Amino acid sequence: MDRLAIEGGKPVRTAMLPYARQSLSPEDVTAVTEALKSDWLTSGPLVEKFEQEFAERVGAKYAVSCSSGTAGLNLAYAALGLGSGDEIVAPVMTMAATTNAAMFLGAQPRLTDVDERTLLLDPGKAAGAVTPRTKAIVAVDYAGQACDYEELQMLADKKGLKLVADACHSLGGKWRDRPVGTLADLSVFSFHPVKHITTGEGGMVTTNDAGLADKLRLFRNHGISSDFRQREKRKTWKYEVVELGYNYRLTEFQAALGRSQLGRLQLFLARRRQIAETYDRALKETGYEPVWTARHARHAYHLYVVKMSEHGWSKNREDVFSALRAEGIGVNVHYIPLHMHPLYRQRLGYREGDFPAAEGAYQRLLTLPLFPSMTDSDVQDVISALRKVWAAYGGGK
Ligand SMILES: *Cc1c(COP(=O)(O)O)cnc(C)c1O
Repeated sequence: MDRLAIEGGKPVRTAMLPYARQSLSPEDVTAVTEALKSDWLTSGPLVEKFEQEFAERVGAKYAVSCSSGTAGLNLAYAALGLGSGDEIVAPVMTMAATTNAAMFLGAQPRLTDVDERTLLLDPGKAAGAVTPRTKAIVAVDYAGQACDYEELQMLADKKGLKLVADACHSLGGKWRDRPVGTLADLSVFSFHPVKHITTGEGGMVTTNDAGLADKLRLFRNHGISSDFRQREKRKTWKYEVVELGYNYRLTEFQAALGRSQLGRLQLFLARRRQIAETYDRALKETGYEPVWTARHARHAYHLYVVKMSEHGWSKNREDVFSALRAEGIGVNVHYIPLHMHPLYRQRLGYREGDFPAAEGAYQRLLTLPLFPSMTDSDVQDVISALRKVWAAYGGGK
């Protein structure tokens, strides 16, 4: 048996393989350069085109761009009129932005445990968290797997709530042939460099509701009822501030990058799924169990997450994490459940033990490297390192 790098052996690779990375092409660079030479630097014609193309790609009527996924969540919650005294129901297995963006507005998140197998919001538990103050249910398509939006929509309808999708992981995913972006009242995407497509920083909110789309645009631009280009067309300087809005605009050169990247989304998705299938096959009969995918979900694989099996290991997740890092494999952990962070304990009063499914899974989670420009040999390095560490620390011994 090969000696582990962490114990002085030869590492599987010397250069650390990151868990995620952007894929930029010469065409992307050209698109950005061309945008920089145009008359518009911030939101202009390219932003509008990007929004149209994005809406078309996901099959939604409207897409409103913004400066980040977090800004998109904030816009979505503002468009729904969330404010102090209101609540949202959100899963505990997510990134802080999902709930922080509601807290900015004075609303309170009611955190909810996840389904043990999928790590997605559990509709039954979500129903139990609804109170008379609840305004919206927020579903998070963790790792890229779409939630069961049929069941969540039934719950929202029954209780008179809005449904928001934090779809920052699931661009290109589906639930029963219906694309992510059309499955909730508002769906929010991120274009951070680790996500499916990037604009450096950036985000998009999609909806089929014209009224909500108008509100998103209003809050994006200082709460002003018309934008600069509309005023130019109408040959007037007059405008009205009708809401307490933000400046969450995307720039033209970001939109140029976004359009160019969107053109390669299908290729990116295909490569992500191909790598995921290779991992699926290679990890059979090992102590790494891929997070379960529901039959009706078309996974978009933003992340490839495994759970260490409950039995068969002589070491814990920290040890396995360190051993894999020493082999040159940049594994990560998604996520520390929200209620384990000081902010949510102090502000919302949550405690360890409140969400056993998320906590139990968290102790055993590892995110493996997955991004479209990984080579087959990178993928084999990950598999070799996983096998090496399983042989040394597990293997059922
Ligand atoms: C990335 C991400 C966000 C925030 O997106 P930013 O563009 O980084 O602001 C929100 N929610 C989830 C689940 C994310 O993964």
